[in-house]
Amino acid sequence: MGRVNSRLAKLHRSYDVAELAQLLGVHKHTVRSWLKDGLPVVDGTRPVLIHGDEFQVWLAKRTKSKKCPLKLGQLYCVKCREGKRPALEMVEYVPLNDTTGNLKAMCETCGSMMHRRVRRTAISAVMPKIDVQITQASPSIGVRTTPSLNTDKLAED
Ligand SMILES: [Zn+2]
Repeated sequence: MGRVNSRLAKLHRSYDVAELAQLLGVHKHTVRSWLKDGLPVVDGTRPVLIHGDEFQVWLAKRTKSKKCPLKLGQLYCVKCREGKRPALEMVEYVPLNDTTGNLKAMCETCGSMMHRRVRRTAISAVMPKIDVQITQASPSIGVRTTPSLNTDKLAED
């Protein structure tokens, strides 16, 4: 999809799906997919009406979140479809190997489990001011029993 000029939508006007599509030069399906993506509509109208100013705000936010998906201290929530702070500032780090692991936390908004892959050395940079709990991924005895050749290979990843 090309760049959409949201300024074409007038602030104090409402549009139905076809009008907005025509105005912006996009397909009606595109506008419908925006509605599914959370584009706000005017309450209780049939057909659905979209406020020009709400459309502008929504599109700006969406464009921005695509450019910079995660801020410091955030993990990506699949349900909210944006970066969210961990509930109660509780974050767990589950190592995948010696250098990398997954941060796990609950979304402050919806309570879904969120994940973010980070290097172990980057934890404090990615989650500033948050006391990240480091978890042992699996009992170390289990890891040690694997043939040393394989372990070396994994560590290089
Ligand atoms: Zn969420």
